[in-house]
This record gives sequence, C-alpha cells and structure tokens, in this order.
Amino acid sequence: MPNMMAPPPEPTARQPGGAVRPQSLRSALARGALGRCPRCGRGRLFRAFLKPVDRCGACDQDWSLQRADDFPAYAALFITGHLVAPLAVHLARDTSVSPGMAAAITLPVTAALAIGLLQPCKGAIIALQWRMAMHGFQQDGAAGGEPPG
Ligand SMILES: [Zn+2]
Repeated sequence: MPNMMAPPPEPTARQPGGAVRPQSLRSALARGALGRCPRCGRGRLFRAFLKPVDRCGACDQDWSLQRADDFPAYAALFITGHLVAPLAVHLARDTSVSPGMAAAITLPVTAALAIGLLQPCKGAIIALQWRMAMHGFQQDGAAGGEPPG
C-alpha cells in the first residue's frame, strides 16, 4: 500500500549538466528545512541532529557534497535575535516585570529557538547549495569538488 502521507512527487526540471532538480527553490528549501531530501522529498536528510546522511535512501542523491559549515549557526542566531529582541525590549519596558523574571523568560526562549532552528537552517542551507549547484553540487552526483584547472 502506498504511503498516503507522503506528498506527491514534484515535477522535475533537467538542469544544464544533466542534474535533475525540483522546479522551485521554495520547494527544495521547505524540504530541507523539514529534514527531508531536497531532491525527492521522501528520504531523510539527517542521520543525527546535525549530521546529514551520506546518500538519500530514496533517490541516492549524494549529500556528502554539502558544505554548510558554520552558516546554519549564523542563520539560526540571526533569526533568534530578530524574534527575541522585541520580546526583550517589551519586557524591559514593562515595569511590572522584574529584571530577573525578564531574564527567566528570555534566556530559555533564546536557547530553545537557537537550538531548535539549527537543524531546519542546516537543511535549508544544504538545499540551497544543492539547488543552486554550489560547491560540491556543481557536478551533482559526480566525484564533487571544483573542476580541475
Ligand atoms: Zn532523495
């Protein structure tokens, strides 16, 4: 019986160089942020919290070519800062909230957001690198890396 919860396969477009990629960047980013394979949407992208799988179990896309490095952490902290700063300013202006209570609210929220956004940010960044054929994904499935010369 087919999996009724899985989204229908998206039409793909053949890119220059023969790579098959989803037609929209938005779809690839959403799949990556949800921890699904940006290429097919069926396989898992992560084997551990921040460890991507080497290859998709469904479509065999090579994810070892990703080079997200520290960018997911920068993105997660950027988003967290923009969400928590208005809360912190609001709590600082509210005279009925003590500084200790404001810290007791903002610090756990900050930690939860920063940690909780790491994997979605990494998945979206891997999807962005793959969709834009950046870094090792230039050759998409080949040995990877920069072309010689
Ligand atoms: Zn896949």
